[in-house]
This record gives sequence, C-alpha cells and structure tokens, in this order.
Amino acid sequence: MSKRLTGLICALALFLSLSGCAAPPKEATSQIFAMDTFMTLTVYGKGIETSAEAALDQMEDYIYALENALSVTREASDIHKINTAGGESVEVGYAAAGLLDGALELCEQTGGALDVTLYPVVKAWGFTTGENRVPGQEELAALKDRVGYSAVELDGQTVTLPAGMELDLGAVAKGYTGYQLAVLLKELGFSSACLSLGGNVQTIGAKPNGDPWRVGVQDPESGNALAIVDVIDKAVVTSGNYQRYFKENGQIYGHIIDPDTLSPADSGLASVTIVADKGLYCDGLSTALFVMGLEEATHFWRQHRDFEAVFIGEDGAVTITAGLEGSFSLASGYENREVTILE
Ligand code: AMP
Ligand code: MG
Repeated sequence: MSKRLTGLICALALFLSLSGCAAPPKEATSQIFAMDTFMTLTVYGKGIETSAEAALDQMEDYIYALENALSVTREASDIHKINTAGGESVEVGYAAAGLLDGALELCEQTGGALDVTLYPVVKAWGFTTGENRVPGQEELAALKDRVGYSAVELDGQTVTLPAGMELDLGAVAKGYTGYQLAVLLKELGFSSACLSLGGNVQTIGAKPNGDPWRVGVQDPESGNALAIVDVIDKAVVTSGNYQRYFKENGQIYGHIIDPDTLSPADSGLASVTIVADKGLYCDGLSTALFVMGLEEATHFWRQHRDFEAVFIGEDGAVTITAGLEGSFSLASGYENREVTILE
C-alpha cells in the first residue's frame, strides 16, 4: 500500500523580528505518529498558567487517548467494542458518542456519500489490514446488507449496531481531534497555533505577527504544494485517493469508497480540500464531496455555503468556491494553472 504522509503543511514562515522590536513569542513544536499519521503540532506564546511545552504534552496525551477510544483496529477502543457486540447495546465514552453523533448528522446531510458503516467494505478491499485485494462482485453484493448508517442507534452514550455491521470513523476522527485540540489550547489561554494532522490542518488564531496561516494544498500528482490557502482560526482538510491506494493490473484503487458501488470512488476528482470553522465538518465533507464528484459537490456547496472548497480533478483542473477568491493563490511552479471560481 502506498501512502504519502506529507499531507498539508503549514507554511510556518519564520517570524522575523526587526531589530529594536519586541522579541517574537516563543515557539514550541512536537512531532508524533498517531492515528496512522505523522502529526506536527506548533504552539506560540504562553497560556494563562501553562507553557507551550506543557500544552504540547497535554495535547499528545489527548491525541493518544482519542486514538485509543476511536481506532477501529485497537481491541480496547469504543469502536471495536461496538463492532464486536453482536447487536447488543454498548456504553461508550464521551468522545466516541460525540463524534458518532456529529458524523451521523453528516451522513444524513450528504445523502449517504459519507457512511460510517463501511468497515466491512474497507476490510474487503484490504485497507486497514495492508493486504489489498479486489473483491469480486458477488462478495461486494453480499456486503450490501451490512452497510447503511441509518441502522446505527445512538441514545446519549449508548450505541446499538445490528449484528454483522461495523463502524469506521476514519473519515472524521482526525478532523474531530484537530478541533478538540484547538478547544483545549484556547482553554489553556493560547491564541496562536498550527496543528498539522496529516491531511488535516487546524489553525488557532493567526500567526504571532497577525498574518494568516499559509496552508499548502498538495498537487495529487507530484506531492508538491500546488496552492496556498490563507486562513485564520480555521480547519483545512484534504481527502484524496492519492493519500492511500493500491495498484492492481495497472488500475489504481483508492481508499475512499463510494457507498453506492462499495468500490473506490471514481468521480473524476483527485482531491477535495474543505475550509471551515470545525474540523469534523471539514473532514466529513472532504470525504463525502470526493465521493460526489465536482458537479454534485458544487450543488451541495451552493445549497449550504457554510464552507469553502478547492477541487482538483484527475485531469489537474483546479476549481475553487467564491469565498476563497481573496485567500487562494497558486504556488510557485503552478502560476499558469487555470483556476475556475464557482459562484
Ligand atoms: P478521509 O481520508 O478523511 O477521506 O477518510 C477516508 C477513510 O474513511 C478511509 O480510509 C476509510 O477508512 C473510511 N471511508 C472510506 N470511504 C468512506 C465513506 N464514503 N464514508 C465514510 N468513511 C469512509
Ligand atoms: Mg474525511
């Protein structure tokens, strides 16, 4: 299985202090591997009673705790408990219940393009196990009855899932985590940070000098930064089949599944980047709009208009939503790429 782990990168332009100006706020950075992703956490300044280093320690503990609760492959996780309960109700923690609640709402809102019950299908294609294979049509048809988010019952922190069905919150967990970390940092009194969780970037406030964060959008083909989106206090989340895929007989099979066909989404898009306030919304939509394809995704955006998006087609065509017009720029080497702006 191929994996590109570079993801989105916060362009952490060095804070240049002019001679005679006040010293720049102190920066603390840590890099960890969690949730199958390399994460870079950068925090500036000092909290109310917490140093940036202490905040990083708290964030790392929080990430590992969320990973333990939400991972589909960890046997002690809430999700694993739900998946192995054989139809019995399971009491889960605050994080799993909160994330599932938000995710189910997004499944509904996206007309099922996002579906948190695809785990039997994800496994059939060998994603998460690392042993990729192309399942036959009969095998996929037999999985149809084991998929469908509307069968998930959530009552407070109690989850009931019909026997044979299995949850996978992989499409939303990192976006949720980024946002929860932003809430934690703000509670601790920090107002400037950039958290890069693979394809999920969560920014807190602006850069220490007041400028927006410059978040790179990757060229799905080369892995270089194709464009930059300037944001303050927002999440920027990208989904793309290039992030995880396998090749068989010259054909590429990506990890984002179309719930209608139970096969890798083949909508003509190479990546979708969503910019909005909340990471869970961004993460759920980046996956769902990738499944929908450009036309349906455009319709969805026009109906909602509470997020912005960058779509990169398999042919390299770049399309952005109107709200990004002032904050989107092509990166060096891509200046001649045509950009369509959706109104
Ligand atoms: P993301 O990288 O956020 O787009 O999430 C992709 C991951 O979510 C995959 O690796 C699967 O584990 C899972 N997944 C794949 N397709 C879907 C889908 N249509 N709805 C929900 N989860 C999905
Ligand atoms: Mg997602």
